[in-house]
Amino acid sequence: MPKTVGVLGLQGDFGLHIKVLERAGVRTRIVRRPEELDSCDGLVLPGGESTTFEKLLKKSGLFDSLKTFVIDHGLMGTCAGLVTLSTRLINDETETLGLIDVEVERNAYGRQRDSFIAPVHVRVFKERPSFEGVFIRAPKIHAVGDHTEILATQGDDVVMARNERVLVTTFHPELTRDVRIHRYFIDAFLN
Ligand code: GLN
Repeated sequence: MPKTVGVLGLQGDFGLHIKVLERAGVRTRIVRRPEELDSCDGLVLPGGESTTFEKLLKKSGLFDSLKTFVIDHGLMGTCAGLVTLSTRLINDETETLGLIDVEVERNAYGRQRDSFIAPVHVRVFKERPSFEGVFIRAPKIHAVGDHTEILATQGDDVVMARNERVLVTTFHPELTRDVRIHRYFIDAFLN
């Protein structure tokens, strides 16, 4: 049976994740309610606006359901999805899920670099570590905790990290034609 990956569809660029995941060979379903998690082997939280995610996740009941889902399923978060999954935010009152031990600053790049493209070095892609990093009002990871592994950097910045169940990127792999990061999630995080 092919695996099914849910994509959180409350807001943001979830449609692009669906396309990439399907190219990578899994089934997908849009998740807007807790019971829709039942048929998913993992879930992607897309980019968007993390303050809006907080509100809509709480309203839908998914805020608490995801804390249970992660016990035996993989989660992937890009950009605002990463902010939502993180443990601590710097100078920001947005409540996060605290499912990966990273300290994050929202909208951390200066105005003229609000959005930019730069090559990212992905350590786990041994043969071809370079990946096109699309950064859009991106957050920065300032610190990672003991059980969190750094997977990619851009210059001095950590831009991709993981723990046992959660994979996060500050950039948008769904905006490139390169499916390797989604495939890594599928191979390493789905049961
Ligand atoms: N700036 C947004 C936030 O912090 C994230 C932007 C994005 O997902 N592209 O919520």
